[in-house]
Amino acid sequence: MTGDGTAHAGRAWIELDRKALLENVRTIRAMLPQSCSLMPAVKANAYGHGSDLIAGELQKAGVQAFCVACAAEGVGLRRCGILGEILILGYTDEKEFGTLARWRLSQTVLDFSYAKRLNRYGKKLHVHVGVDTGMHRLGIGSGNPEEILEVLGMENLQADGLFTHLCAADSDSAEDRTFTRKQAEAFYRLAGEIRKRRGSCPKLHLLSSYGIFGYREYAEDYVRPGIALYGVWSRGEDQKGRKSLCPVLSLKARVACVKSLHAGETAGYGRAFLADGERKIAVLSIGYADGVPRCLADGGGSVLLAGKKAPVVGRICMDQMLVDVSGIDGVKSGDTAVLIGRSQAEEITATEMAGQCNTISNEILSRLGSRLARIVV
Ligand SMILES: *Cc1c(COP(=O)(O)O)cnc(C)c1O
Repeated sequence: MTGDGTAHAGRAWIELDRKALLENVRTIRAMLPQSCSLMPAVKANAYGHGSDLIAGELQKAGVQAFCVACAAEGVGLRRCGILGEILILGYTDEKEFGTLARWRLSQTVLDFSYAKRLNRYGKKLHVHVGVDTGMHRLGIGSGNPEEILEVLGMENLQADGLFTHLCAADSDSAEDRTFTRKQAEAFYRLAGEIRKRRGSCPKLHLLSSYGIFGYREYAEDYVRPGIALYGVWSRGEDQKGRKSLCPVLSLKARVACVKSLHAGETAGYGRAFLADGERKIAVLSIGYADGVPRCLADGGGSVLLAGKKAPVVGRICMDQMLVDVSGIDGVKSGDTAVLIGRSQAEEITATEMAGQCNTISNEILSRLGSRLARIVV
């Protein structure tokens, strides 16, 4: 790639850096024992990156298990040639149980009554049993070994895994670290009980991204990294003291046109931008329908043009947005603006954009819209 990327002919697009993704895979694998496999989270269109491209690259890199949020996402992966295990982490309606069987998708057991419904479907279904160790979201309570043993014995369920989710593994506070250890201990106690009573136990997994970096002693048969594989932390301050990762995604858009404003003239909806002198405004062909948060304008956001920062001004529209390019020479229609990623020596990260919008990078990325083209570079 040269410059800011003219690889794509569209109005706005996402570039995925294959090398960065593979580097993150290497970084994470290097932290884990040989016996632990990756089960990357490619839900929500691989956090907005494009699940077909990301899962395809990961499969080429030897990854044989994935997790998604829902059955439709699982079917989408199968349709584009993903062969390994695909675990659905969330709710699948009873009417879709046939889809699970047809596409060989593994379903999370959400609670005991849900297990009974899965079993009643009548055909063999692959499941991983979710265990609630204190998050109180999904899973059978870790204090109910009897229920879990009953699920493991259900005749139509093939239980390939047993897992829990740590809900405060991203926190360094002593209190949260104690809580996280309690969650893990409850999970191991349960697994021990199952092994004792049945002679064996399904495959175990506990860790998502922050867990891998903070509690790698809990890496068992699988880990479920999401955000770290995409090369960013959820919040800016989380980088401190952690390994550096390589951002996979860049978000780019074309300059549609450039306008000159005189002092006192306004731009955009609600006349939200007021020129306080001679101003040059570039109109970018990307908007909130593409996933650019509308609050970015108020959060001090900017984009990069020719290696320089251009502040976002006025209100972000559905399909367009305005940036002030008064300080940048020669900006013209057809130029490429970088909203996330690098331009010469400057970089804007998804985490930085998230900070300006009071959210985490996960939300910014996963909301990037279906209208954006996605290419691997
Ligand atoms: C989304 C999700 C993950 C991945 O989380 P990251 O923090 O992005 O690594 C792992 N496990 C479960 C149950 C999830 O819902």
